[in-house]
Amino acid sequence: MTSPGRKRVLSGITATGRLHIGNYIGAISLWAENQDTYENFLFVADLHALTIPEAVAGTSLRARVEEIFALYIACGIDPEQSTLFVQSDVHEHAELGWLMTCATPVSWLERSTQFKTKGKIADVDAGVGAGLLCYPALQAADILLYNADYVPVGEDQQQHVEMSRDIARRFNALIRKSGSRIMGLDDPTAKMSKSLAERQAGHAVALLDPPDQARRAIMRAVTDSRPAVDFGAGLALGVDNLLTILECLTGTTRAQSQERFDGARYGALKTAVADVAVDLLTDIQGRYHEIVDDRAQLAKLLAHGADRARSIAAGKLAQAYRACGLRS
Ligand code: ATP
Ligand code: MG
Repeated sequence: MTSPGRKRVLSGITATGRLHIGNYIGAISLWAENQDTYENFLFVADLHALTIPEAVAGTSLRARVEEIFALYIACGIDPEQSTLFVQSDVHEHAELGWLMTCATPVSWLERSTQFKTKGKIADVDAGVGAGLLCYPALQAADILLYNADYVPVGEDQQQHVEMSRDIARRFNALIRKSGSRIMGLDDPTAKMSKSLAERQAGHAVALLDPPDQARRAIMRAVTDSRPAVDFGAGLALGVDNLLTILECLTGTTRAQSQERFDGARYGALKTAVADVAVDLLTDIQGRYHEIVDDRAQLAKLLAHGADRARSIAAGKLAQAYRACGLRS
């Protein structure tokens, strides 16, 4: 349960696709590990997902949102210990987001790397929405509503958190030292991402992939033309990535990897990674199905989390309205 002395952590994942092992290693497992130490506010960012039209076209966004919510719990987040909610269930996010948008210079928003890259990916003919540009202002609101002390993120989100700090000057970023950037299995020069996984088979291991499919994707992961792991000659990016995944999932070090795999054939390394990933997925999926099969309980958990979040967010929004002169 919440206790007044603990620092607050706020984090979320955008509902732009299916969660993968990169999200697990760089975000969810970290939240689960920290939930005794911090007061966690963890959400599914569905309002942010609306900024990526191709990610939401033709899908039932709510179904995906509930899948992610249930996966948080299946991955070990305790809905009593942490406040777990869906962003759009707490209307204060959209409201404070607007106040933040009005307070944020357009020139800051235009510097966002995510705007530059995702703006290009999004179908230009369909017209990129202004939400993609204003995303960091909504993110600042997410953080401010809970007075978050820490915002644990992977490397790709660091620029936004820094921008939020500029907007509000309130928090620090907490980043996992190794594994904050798991790379694509099909292309180890590109970060594993939900959106790329929608377009490229073999790019990611999704947490809900059938374990056999996950094993095949790992066994086919791109390495280089050498047959065996050679620490002395320098590791191919894809090999480094497989080692990082293994180390993060088993809590082992690079030195231990070197001892175990130097000179080993790539097939042996891949089999080791696949075994660990299959165990993880089997475990997560067992719990996931228990959660989503009980629809009434899932609805209760969603409402419970939203109520808890609103009990904090409402006060902050009222303060912000007063600061803008919209309330006396
Ligand atoms: P998208 O393609 O929509 O950007 P994504 O997979 O990059 O999806 P995000 O929603 O951007 O996921 O990020 C969710 C959380 O997971 C963030 O904390 C992010 O830093 C972390 N994360 C995302 N991808 C990785 C990765 N490949 N390795 C480690 N952490 C990651
Ligand atoms: Mg991303």
